[in-house]
Amino acid sequence: MKSSPQCKICRREGKKLFLKGDRCNSQKCVLVKKKYPPGAHGPKGYGRISDYGRQLREKQKLRRSYYVSEKQFKNYFVKAKKKEGNTEEIFLAFLEKRLDNVVYRAGFASSRRQARQLISHGNILVNGRLVDVPSYQVKTGDAIQPKEKKAIIEKVKEKIEQVKDRDTFPAWASLDKKKPEIKILKNPASEDLPQTFETELIIGFYSR
Ligand code: SF4
Repeated sequence: MKSSPQCKICRREGKKLFLKGDRCNSQKCVLVKKKYPPGAHGPKGYGRISDYGRQLREKQKLRRSYYVSEKQFKNYFVKAKKKEGNTEEIFLAFLEKRLDNVVYRAGFASSRRQARQLISHGNILVNGRLVDVPSYQVKTGDAIQPKEKKAIIEKVKEKIEQVKDRDTFPAWASLDKKKPEIKILKNPASEDLPQTFETELIIGFYSR
């Protein structure tokens, strides 16, 4: 089976980045069988990398998993560094509070890429108003819904059902599946932030 461009990214990084939606949680995930880099020399494995290489790779993994451009990703770090508090946590919270991430985690879409399309095509309302900016930072009290159009609501409900076993919905928000509507309850706490990346390597990368 040939790897898709998204699956090749996961293979290059040696980690599941969940870029292909439903396939990622199934046995069809390419990494189940091919846990080595793509290309002719891939089966030889990942080899040794320098400290700088480790920082760079970790940065790419996190950035690609959130489907964010290099410029935007670095901006989050610059903003986090200026704020008082734990830079790692503030940086991760910027990523988590992106509208496309929240829409994805709620199951309105099966990947962040798909969530981004849903938003940029004008299908998502925040507090009753259309927001077509995937990087919009959600705030406490925000109510997020699909556009009041039967076909869109049905499609979103169907998606939520498909991903009901995916235990990734944030503890700092609630989901009313019937409406469907996401409510932002509070700012993400440190225990609500993703623990699967070595964020200190990324902070190290940008602090060089
Ligand atoms: Fe492909 Fe998803 Fe598996 Fe990554 S996690 S290799 S995108 S199926």
